[in-house]
Amino acid sequence: MRLHGKTILITGASSGIGAETARLCAAAGANVVLGARRAERLAALAEEIANAGGAAAYAPGDVRSAAYAAELVALAQSRFGGLDGAFNNAGITGALGPLAEMTEDTWREVIETNLTSGFHAAKAQIPALQMRGGGALVFTSSFVGHTIGLPGMAAYAASKAGLIGMTQALATELGPQNIRVNALLPGGTMTEMAGEDRAFHETVATMHALKRMATPAEIARAALFLLSDDASFVTGSAMLADGGNSITKL
Ligand code: NAP
Repeated sequence: MRLHGKTILITGASSGIGAETARLCAAAGANVVLGARRAERLAALAEEIANAGGAAAYAPGDVRSAAYAAELVALAQSRFGGLDGAFNNAGITGALGPLAEMTEDTWREVIETNLTSGFHAAKAQIPALQMRGGGALVFTSSFVGHTIGLPGMAAYAASKAGLIGMTQALATELGPQNIRVNALLPGGTMTEMAGEDRAFHETVATMHALKRMATPAEIARAALFLLSDDASFVTGSAMLADGGNSITKL
């Protein structure tokens, strides 16, 4: 029960890494607030968590909206009395392709979904954490744009690298207030984002020292660590949970 009595907000909770992190945080004793666009998925997960003895609330919406970021924090406060941590995890790859052929719409969609969402989230969440006297913010970044460059992913890489820069600035701004801020960098993970092409999965697997992709639960455990007091002296980090893809060339 590493999160006993805490309230944790999780975006991208309708699938993949976010859904697994919500399950794990609830099992660790947290009240969880779930965000994403697909309401029926959030409702099903909230019911599953409640049936397992946990407590979950949800609100569907788009993380590109500042009003939605505020709504999720307000939900945490009205249902559970406050906010202790947030896993700002929602993200998209967007349409892939060479930058010279990338539309401005694609660029904006990816940057707004992956990076500007982090700005909206932190802006809404920080006052709530300050009211609690501390807390933890975690942003899902990626190996793409940090340890590895991949063709066709310029907007995605820029958005995820941007989150690391924001994480470092926020960690220094908020450290004196007992608020830790970290970025989590998963390696290739078997989620909806990875698609269903087995040949692609095998190619991605070879990029990792472990020669496989992660399960969402493996990344969720790293998120739980960063959100919990087990990481009480970890802040400003770009924490790899990448199966060794950053040190693999063969
Ligand atoms: P996923 O299963 O596709 O999950 C993405 C989540 O983001 C979904 O819950 C989706 O929910 C939500 N989302 C996307 N756009 C949104 C929007 N505009 N507003 C609200 N929610 C939105 O993929 P995943 O792998 O778990 O991705 C989670 C995070 O991990 C992402 O930030 C991703 O970039 C990062 N990551 C993934 C990998 C990988 O290999 N899978 C590797 C490194 C980093 P709705 O569609 O219901 O809105």
